[in-house]
Amino acid sequence: MEQRIERLAREHTLPPEDFRALLAGMTPAVRENLRRRAREAARARFGNRIYTRGLIEFTNYCRNDCYYCGIRRSNAAAQRYRLTKEEILDCCREGYALGFRTFVLQGGEDGYFTDDRLAEIVAAIRAGYPDCAITLSVGERSRESYQRLFDAGANRYLLRHETADCAHYASLHPRELSLAHRMECLYTLKEIGYQVGAGFMVGSPGQTVDTLVKDLCFLQELHPQMVGIGPFIPQKDTPLGGEKAGTLEDTLGLLAIIRLMLPDVLLPATTALGTIHPRGREEGILSGANVVMPNLSPAAVRRKYALYDNKVSFGEEAAQGWRLLEQRMEAIGYTLAVERGDYGD
Ligand code: SAH
Repeated sequence: MEQRIERLAREHTLPPEDFRALLAGMTPAVRENLRRRAREAARARFGNRIYTRGLIEFTNYCRNDCYYCGIRRSNAAAQRYRLTKEEILDCCREGYALGFRTFVLQGGEDGYFTDDRLAEIVAAIRAGYPDCAITLSVGERSRESYQRLFDAGANRYLLRHETADCAHYASLHPRELSLAHRMECLYTLKEIGYQVGAGFMVGSPGQTVDTLVKDLCFLQELHPQMVGIGPFIPQKDTPLGGEKAGTLEDTLGLLAIIRLMLPDVLLPATTALGTIHPRGREEGILSGANVVMPNLSPAAVRRKYALYDNKVSFGEEAAQGWRLLEQRMEAIGYTLAVERGDYGD
């Protein structure tokens, strides 16, 4: 096992059967070994700086019906909201003053936000904050749409592939959604020139060592600039609401493997990780993560963006908690960076 880990750290890749052996043989000792090397790799590349992104959850209307997600269209218990352009710009203004230089606009696939409307919002942020990066995370759209949003000033796009195994994908999504289309979107985004983020939930129902090997191989092939992974957490009003959550340990092991595979990648310690464990975010950083994404949405809507139960969004999860978060980072030897933090910087 030592040799495999050594090889992964040195060559940044492993044959699928070695990924399988690594995942199947993930004892606490193996995991700690991986985490130590991943931490060293992140230190060598980024020093002790953690990049920050202000997350603006601007709509929880969604046309899709993903079985795991609390804002799926069939969830009648979700209280729907969408922010106006002015409210979104207010979030940016507040975020800029707090020190954020990347704004992430995330939402459900909300038909209200046509290309015209969304491009206008992106253009307004671009005009007001020429020194900031704009990241979009609004699901699957057409090439023309992605191109328009890019031309309006968006730089990055987060679209988790969710799982790289077709049958697993089909067990998490309704028939109208396909892995092939999701992947096609990722390649299209890359071609247009976005920095792209793929990723998946850890411990989603039906996930196995084999589906995870496919995830790792897909990441290897796509070579995204960002990878978002976090534990699956059940949301009680969804079809998968009775399933078990993914674990902290599994997430930390995978973060470490991804850091070793993609030494330059921007890798967030996600909100879901902070939700399943009070020290989740810190442990994520100590496994090679180098990005945090505090919540910049207006406090009044924050609880409504309930992708899963008990999602944290206040205290150090809130953008306004910058100082609190900074203290927690400093306690483990890191500092929050006030810069865009583009891939390859
Ligand atoms: N509509 C956008 C944004 C989706 S929400 C899109 O399609 O990309 C962002 C991410 O939250 C999803 O990609 C999914 O991986 C994650 N997510 C959704 N439900 C979750 C749950 N129950 N537990 C953990 N993560 C979840």
